[in-house]
Amino acid sequence: MKEREKILVIDDSSVQADMLKSILEENYAVTVAHTAEAGLHHARVGNFSLVLLDVIMPGMDGFDLLRKMQEEVVTRHVPVILITSLRDTEYEERGLLLGAVDYITKPYHPPVVRARVNTHVKLYRYRTQVEHQSMIDPMTGVPNRRSYDENCRNKWKEAVRFQQPISLCMFDIDRFKTYNDTFGHPAGDKVICAVAQTATGLLRRSTDFFARYGGEEFVAIVMGSDAKAAREQMKKIRQAVEDLHIPHAPEVSPWVTVSIGGVTVVPEQEDSYDTYLKIADTMLYDAKRFGRNKVVWSTARMEQLQEK
Ligand code: GH3
Ligand code: MG
Ligand code: MG
Repeated sequence: MKEREKILVIDDSSVQADMLKSILEENYAVTVAHTAEAGLHHARVGNFSLVLLDVIMPGMDGFDLLRKMQEEVVTRHVPVILITSLRDTEYEERGLLLGAVDYITKPYHPPVVRARVNTHVKLYRYRTQVEHQSMIDPMTGVPNRRSYDENCRNKWKEAVRFQQPISLCMFDIDRFKTYNDTFGHPAGDKVICAVAQTATGLLRRSTDFFARYGGEEFVAIVMGSDAKAAREQMKKIRQAVEDLHIPHAPEVSPWVTVSIGGVTVVPEQEDSYDTYLKIADTMLYDAKRFGRNKVVWSTARMEQLQEK
């Protein structure tokens, strides 16, 4: 059975909260919080599709909470419906300006509450689907260039902030033009998918990032590994692609292979991401120059490590 969508009700009055819960629990998994603080905590970790928020609460009120939710990356996208009573209708404008998607006035008519909630949950589901799809390369199912563009700078900043090693790796399928010329473009597409799947399967840590950079090129970002470990991991991927034993054009090589160039650095504030991406690209160029089907690495001290 499909998991039910989660809704968070934040209301200091148990009577009010329970009423909303009873209206919605037939179709949704409803969580109740009685303070804004508890609500914020749930909103951060609970993966909710909608929040119903009472405006007037002692301590942190609904507006403060809404403002906080809008500021935080993990809660910003969750739609919030404000619950106001007739006497505080003047608050509605303020709430909507703060980013609430809608408001419901007490006393309310349960079918109307249900209808509005259904609408916003549906919109939210649609929006997250579209956002997700716009970040995925449809052919391979791995993150696309746009996803890479959105992620790479954050990863870099994280490495600077926590003084952690970060590795940037560029992949390129060897002599792929000849492959297409020999076996046709549709067969080439299958190869691109196979390479993407093989690499993704070997980049399993939640902090690893892998994307199709364009055409038959991919990019990986590995966090927290030193140059030796990152390079070993890329060698495994290179080997795994070769071990797929996809026949290449006879005049090129027995199997389809990839060349990989990478660099590992613990970046300082003044270092530039683009400089290191350029280094990874130069390593890839050298991997091609040194005969392809190779991993070539640069350490932060600009020592080059070649394979074979
Ligand atoms: P090298 O070893 O130097 O990388 O040689 P190469 O032939 O792979 O290099 P080049 O960059 O000249 O060719 C890349 C080829 O990849 C050309 C293009 O037709 C093919 N290609 C790019 N995107 C796709 C795709 O989506 N599907 C298929 N089948 N081929 C693609
Ligand atoms: Mg290429
Ligand atoms: Mg190529």
